[in-house]
Amino acid sequence: MIVHELLRKIARYYIDKYFSWLFSGDFRPDTYAVYEILECRAKVEFTRALPYTIMNTIVAPASLVGLLLHEGFGTVFSEECKLNRIFSKKIQVDDREITINGWPDYYDGDKVIELKFTTHPVKEPEPRHVQQVRMYMWLTECKKGYLLYVTPKKVYEFEITQPMTESEIVDLIKNWTSPRDPAECQQCQFKNICPYSRADVRERREEPKTEQVA
Ligand code: SF4
Repeated sequence: MIVHELLRKIARYYIDKYFSWLFSGDFRPDTYAVYEILECRAKVEFTRALPYTIMNTIVAPASLVGLLLHEGFGTVFSEECKLNRIFSKKIQVDDREITINGWPDYYDGDKVIELKFTTHPVKEPEPRHVQQVRMYMWLTECKKGYLLYVTPKKVYEFEITQPMTESEIVDLIKNWTSPRDPAECQQCQFKNICPYSRADVRERREEPKTEQVA
């Protein structure tokens, strides 16, 4: 099957570009990516301990579409985004100095744009996506931010006007729960082994086998 070959190459490309730090094991405990801070704490710990599980996310068809869309977007706007890179800032949280890294989809020195792919119509942006743009605005010191949802039928645009403040970020780190939102568990690949899982118990429970009477 040709799909093996293609997925292998896509996964290798994606890991080399975005997750080589995860596989090197060379990450500092007090350094986090923006997307990590906004998701479940236990999920971050599971992923850091078991980096190969990232493959499950990469090869899921919906993620694959999103991933290829992002790469296409990055290629089309490479001229405008020459200044784009991994941005990094430090923040003090009690006695810990936390480093936060983030790489927006689009940064031209004036604005950031975050691109999302979904198959559903979008009435309101997801709060977590808004937080992501606001954190990129804080990191890049941009005053303008946009969230763009691409769906098969329509493109939705939301303008974000407020960068996240340092105190909001400190708050997010101090109140980093597992999960951040119970809805995360339903889609989580660790839901059957995670002690904090809030996924529907009926889904996770093993049905007892019916004894066959001879
Ligand atoms: S199952 Fe839920 S609580 Fe556990 S890691 Fe996944 S998202 Fe987090």
